[in-house]
Amino acid sequence: MWIDAHLDSIKKETESTWRFFIKISDKNFSLIAGQFIQVKIDDIVRSYSVASLIDNKNVIELIIVKLDGGKMTNYLFNKIKIGKSFKIKGPLGKFILPEKIDRDIFFISTGTGIAPFRSMLQYIEKNKIKHLNIFIIFGTRSKKDILYYDEMIKLSSKKNIIYIPTLSREKWSGNNGYVHSIYEKILNDEEGLINPLFYLCGWRDMIKEARSKLKNLGIDSKSIKLEIYG
Ligand SMILES: Cc1cc2nc3c(=O)[nH]c(=O)nc-3n(C[C@H](O)[C@H](O)[C@H](O)COP(=O)(O)OP(=O)(O)OC[C@H]3O[C@@H](n4cnc5c(N)ncnc54)[C@H](O)[C@@H]3O)c2cc1C
Repeated sequence: MWIDAHLDSIKKETESTWRFFIKISDKNFSLIAGQFIQVKIDDIVRSYSVASLIDNKNVIELIIVKLDGGKMTNYLFNKIKIGKSFKIKGPLGKFILPEKIDRDIFFISTGTGIAPFRSMLQYIEKNKIKHLNIFIIFGTRSKKDILYYDEMIKLSSKKNIIYIPTLSREKWSGNNGYVHSIYEKILNDEEGLINPLFYLCGWRDMIKEARSKLKNLGIDSKSIKLEIYG
C-alpha cells in the first residue's frame, strides 16, 4: 500500500550525500530500526534505508548519495522542492536487531550503508537497550566523506560502543585501508568475542568481499546479515 508523504527539509551532510527529511501523513506509520522504505516519485521507484527513528512530527530521515546518471538521485539533488508530495511504501525488510542483544555486534558499512545502523543505534540509545560490544566499522575515501562523524564519536564515548572509521584514499590520524582489514584484525586479535553477529550494508562489491572473507574466517552464514543496495 502506498502512503502519502512529502519532503520536509534537506540537510547537506557532504557535497554528494544529503539527508532528506520525509514527513509521513499516516500517523500510525511505525518502523523497526534497520528497515527500509520504497519511495515513488512520478514514475521512479527506489528503496532507501531509514536512517533514523520516527520523530514526534512523524518525520523520518533518509541519507542518499548522488549517482552520476542516476534517475532518482538526479531528481532528488537537482529538481525536488521542499514540500513536494510523493508516495512511500513500507517499512520493509528484516535487517533488524535481535530481540535480545546477547552477542557482540559488528555493523560494517561503506558510504550511505551506515543508514540502517544509525537507526538501530538511535533505537538502542533511546530505549536504553542492553547490549554487548558494538563495533561500528565505516569505510569511505576521505575525511570529508565520513557520514555522521560527530554523532558517532559521541556515541563511542559510551561503554561497549567502538567506532572505527577507515579511509581508503587519505592519510589521517585514524585507520587507513578498507573495512575488511579492520574486522579481520579484530577477529584475529580479540579474544573472548561473544558469538559475533555481523551486519553488512552497502554496495554489492563490498558486501560480496566481506561475506567471503568472514566465511573464510570461520563465521557461519547464519551470523551474517546483509542489506545490498545495488
Ligand atoms: C534495500 C535498499 C536500501 C537502499 N538504501 C539506500 C540508502 O539508504 N541510501 C542510498 O544512497 N541508496 C540506497 N539504496 C540504493 C537506491 O535504491 C538507488 O539504487 C540509488 O539511489 C540509485 O538510484 P538512481 O535512480 O539515482 O540510479 P539508477 O538510475 O538506478 O542507476 C544509475 C546508474 O548508476 C549505476 N549504479 C547504481 N549503484 C551504483 C553504485 N553504488 N556505484 C556506481 N554505480 C552505481 C547503475 O548501474 C546505473 O548505471 C538502497 C537500495 C536498496 C535495495
